[in-house]
Amino acid sequence: MVVEAQTMVNEAKNRQRGKNVEIMGQGEDDQSRQMDIWEDNVSMELLIGGHLDTELYDTTNMERGKKRVMKYHRSKDTLFFKNLVVPRLVERRILIEKIHKEIGHFGEMWTLDEVKKRFFWHDRIEFVKKFIRMCEKC
Ligand SMILES: [Zn+2]
Repeated sequence: MVVEAQTMVNEAKNRQRGKNVEIMGQGEDDQSRQMDIWEDNVSMELLIGGHLDTELYDTTNMERGKKRVMKYHRSKDTLFFKNLVVPRLVERRILIEKIHKEIGHFGEMWTLDEVKKRFFWHDRIEFVKKFIRMCEKC
């Protein structure tokens, strides 16, 4: 009985964990989730050039890239994930700084909400949390 109950608890935990990962990545698959889109050569080549140099990549990587970019689009110089802007790596810190200053020093919650509403990148939640942990005023 005890073992059974423990198994059920573990299963529930795993399901919950899976769900959280899904929310965090918003539908990005495991492989893509680990890599920033701006540093994902296959995806960026597709997004910029619209096609791939097939000699550079293996089939698995190309298929993954094609699947990934379906959720992204470019408009002029801006990259979007669905309706969310995907800022370049170098822009992110300044962006969070600005939002956090506007919203006020109330810890991570409101800043995180605002970022989630407007921006997307694979580790944005961790990024914001880390930034707020370093904030002297919070
Ligand atoms: Zn603060």
